[in-house]
Amino acid sequence: MYRKTADEIMAIDPELAIIPVGSLEQHGPHLPVMTDWAIAAELGRRVAEKMNAFLVPALPISTCREQMGKKGTVWMEPVTFYQMMTDIIMSLKVQGFKKVAILQLHGGVFINTPLVRDLNARYNPDLMVALIDGCSFFGNLYAEGIIETNTELHAGEVETSQILAIAPQTVHMDRAVDHVPDVPRPYLNYGSLFRACPDGVWGEPTKASAQKGEAIFEHCANQTVEQLEKIFAYMESKEKFNYSYF
Ligand SMILES: [Zn+2]
Repeated sequence: MYRKTADEIMAIDPELAIIPVGSLEQHGPHLPVMTDWAIAAELGRRVAEKMNAFLVPALPISTCREQMGKKGTVWMEPVTFYQMMTDIIMSLKVQGFKKVAILQLHGGVFINTPLVRDLNARYNPDLMVALIDGCSFFGNLYAEGIIETNTELHAGEVETSQILAIAPQTVHMDRAVDHVPDVPRPYLNYGSLFRACPDGVWGEPTKASAQKGEAIFEHCANQTVEQLEKIFAYMESKEKFNYSYF
């Protein structure tokens, strides 16, 4: 919808705005640093089309200190991201958008959770903000047999398949290496991803294919629409509880 004129958008008068959030960061020896942003842009486009929503262009930079160690990884402070997102969402609210959906396609943006909770606590029922975390689909993709591995955190079968589907010329499958570390995800608080994964890969990219990538996008887009409808229906059904609409 951001390709339309303001008057055309006024005529459609969407009440939902979608903000896809990516990241600019290393994705192993085989994927481009644009990976999360490219995935966010593609999923955002598909979801916005299905929901007739106003699509904000995918944000290319967020918070990714856990990816430090090689050039090409760019981050901002979590508090800066919090303030920036608040400003963007407030500008949407002033224009009459009642619903905002943040599609988070980079796992390391932990400040999105307090952001969404704070905005809803402050502005419900005039504004409803939903958060969809792309990582939450991995288990389901595996359970439904769309992917073969359930080991991914970064640059594995899922992300590699998605980039093979939308930007195959940027993928170097001959350089792909599988690596599953022996520490859990919270260890990214204690050292960069390169400490646990020397190649910058946490997962099994050699299992990736473009065909899987297309199936992943379709599944994630449908799941996102379903989850957003449930979340907004839940928030819309709330009555005032003592002094609070939250
Ligand atoms: Zn990624």
